[in-house]
Amino acid sequence: MNIFKETESEVQSYARSFPRSFNRAQGEELFDEDGIAYLDFLAGAGALNYGHNNAVLKEKLLAYIENDGITHGLDMHTRAKADFLEALRDKILAPRGLDYRVQFTGPTGTNAVEAAMKLARKVKGRETIVSFTNGFHGVSLGPLAATGNAHHRGGAGTQLAGIARVPYDGYLGKGVDTTAYLDKLLCDGSSGIDHPAAVLVETVQGEGGVNAASAQWLRNLEKVCRKHDMLLIVDDIQAGCGRTGTFFSFEGAGIKPDIVTLSKSISGYGLPMAIVLLHPELDAWKPGEHNGTFRGNNMAFLTAKATIDEFWSSSAFSDSVKRKGAYVAKRLQRMAENHGEGHFSVRGRGMFQGLNCVCGELAGRIAARCFEERMIIETCGADDEVIKIFCPLTITDANLTRGLDILEKAVAEVCAETDEMPEATEVFKLRRAS
Ligand SMILES: *Cc1c(COP(=O)(O)O)cnc(C)c1O
Repeated sequence: MNIFKETESEVQSYARSFPRSFNRAQGEELFDEDGIAYLDFLAGAGALNYGHNNAVLKEKLLAYIENDGITHGLDMHTRAKADFLEALRDKILAPRGLDYRVQFTGPTGTNAVEAAMKLARKVKGRETIVSFTNGFHGVSLGPLAATGNAHHRGGAGTQLAGIARVPYDGYLGKGVDTTAYLDKLLCDGSSGIDHPAAVLVETVQGEGGVNAASAQWLRNLEKVCRKHDMLLIVDDIQAGCGRTGTFFSFEGAGIKPDIVTLSKSISGYGLPMAIVLLHPELDAWKPGEHNGTFRGNNMAFLTAKATIDEFWSSSAFSDSVKRKGAYVAKRLQRMAENHGEGHFSVRGRGMFQGLNCVCGELAGRIAARCFEERMIIETCGADDEVIKIFCPLTITDANLTRGLDILEKAVAEVCAETDEMPEATEVFKLRRAS
């Protein structure tokens, strides 16, 4: 496909790992222009939790378009928006004892995080926001400052300011509670950390390597926030919308964030949409102070409401995600035991799981081998050393098993080859030793 080589920017990334031109998609399958099917274990980086072109959502969307329903509405009141807000309030927030106002931002995750950070600074009248090692919050300047990854930070070309970085859960080893470190910094007038407005956290770090914080750590973090008068912002853009087995990823921990950001799978159909949920007392925005031309993507509101009705009106869907997640964890554990000599490890929660291969090159070769078997799967982490299992939550049991079979075979083959390839083995050994 020369058109991409000749005209599209070098900034492409996923296209390099999966060099085909795709044309159709259904459920957990993508089809290239030759009609060849690929099993999708990437799911739009988490934007397709309910699969490609979900039949229930598609039917509603087609009828809406046929009826000349509003497509673009700025932030004007529309039927589609009212229906979404009602469904969110009555079926998601109220049953969980959560009380939030909804802010519609420009339809990207980074814009929602940008708005959340602005609001926290505005409300508290302080600049510093605490974020964590290996955190990822988007690539516009505010969220990029809160992002750890050097590759992404390198693109800024200007100062990334206003952030105090603290080790995430597990960063300093198992026995170390890094919220105690944060508390100590904030109690110490000479720690060099200015009193923060807020703490910005992912409960499971997606791009950072599928690092899952423990429920206890999250509860401790909430306590530190309350003690030091800081807002707790949960960036649930990747971990939310069911990925960990509950609608919000923080439900199991029993915490109540002041602000929550959602995007990726909130529309459920891969349509761009992002929202900020904020405690009513924090709603200090002046009209239009944070705006965005495309904050009224009404087709996304329509499908977002439909996902709530279809998947979140009973516990059946949530139960199925938990069941499939346990199966994924079990299969990954077996791969780690069979091939890793204790060096591969499994991490994650629900259907947000990763296989840590320690070495980026090794993980990359395993993912590439999967692609040869027509499965799309990506790596994440500081060195791209973690294989991220991120299929649609709606995947059939048969395809889930098939995908994990492909992965298991790829792990076995690449590990077998690694012993025969001295250069790769050296890298592997080096990483293992460190
Ligand atoms: C993807 C992601 C973002 C950024 O979303 P974009 O739509 O790519 O701007 C922010 N936070 C988290 C946790 C994400 O996974």
